[in-house]
Amino acid sequence: MKNLYDCHVHLNLPQFSLQRDLLLEECGKLLDFCINVGFDEKSSEESLSLAYGYPFIKAAVGIHPTYASSSTPRLLERISAMLLEEETVALGEIGLDYYWMKDPPEVQKAVFEEQMEIAAKQKKPVLIHDREAHDDTLAVLKIFKGRVRGVLHSFSGDETMAKKAADLGYYLSISGPVTYTNKKNALFRSLVSSLPPEWLLIETDSPYLAPVPFRGKTNSPLYVAYVAREIASLKQMEPEEFLRISRRSAKDIFEI
Ligand SMILES: [Zn+2]
Repeated sequence: MKNLYDCHVHLNLPQFSLQRDLLLEECGKLLDFCINVGFDEKSSEESLSLAYGYPFIKAAVGIHPTYASSSTPRLLERISAMLLEEETVALGEIGLDYYWMKDPPEVQKAVFEEQMEIAAKQKKPVLIHDREAHDDTLAVLKIFKGRVRGVLHSFSGDETMAKKAADLGYYLSISGPVTYTNKKNALFRSLVSSLPPEWLLIETDSPYLAPVPFRGKTNSPLYVAYVAREIASLKQMEPEEFLRISRRSAKDIFEI
């Protein structure tokens, strides 16, 4: 398959430490580009060193909502500086997580908004993590309407949310769960089948969220074709045609 890319991976994690060099070599052959995403200071630094080490890897740097309480003015300055680096294409992942709820919504929102402000100043796109916090996430994106664009990573919202997000200038990134054919997921799959292909990006979120037939195992960017094929089949499109459109959207938002 041509035009394959993966807009959300965490290849810096220890799950990959035994075979990282080999995996990266394989990924470089298969993928056009791949965005390694930070979630705290250390992982953001690691994203950058991967991006400087491998031409097909780009970096995203940011503080994930689960690490909201680690945020300090010094760390925000550090994120700001890393965002200026040549190999950094986005600020993220940032957002709200009411599933794990490690910090109260007010703390999460404050750190989210501070980082949105940094993205607005530097005119960089954002990668949004939203888990069970759809309304509050949209409310923050709305505050920055016209100043910040980006991607809703591993999108899990409904039709109303998809339309509102697209209207605010956001792409929807689809991950492994689109391949899960259980009853609970039928509505989501039917939503994906109805959305314009121009709105949809693809990702693995490796090492998490492995697509069928690898569900439950360590995910890898090498499996991103399973996500692409599933979306194309739901939309009754040729995979190559879907990928051509999707890759163009990805290159547009990340200016790759
Ligand atoms: Zn992630």
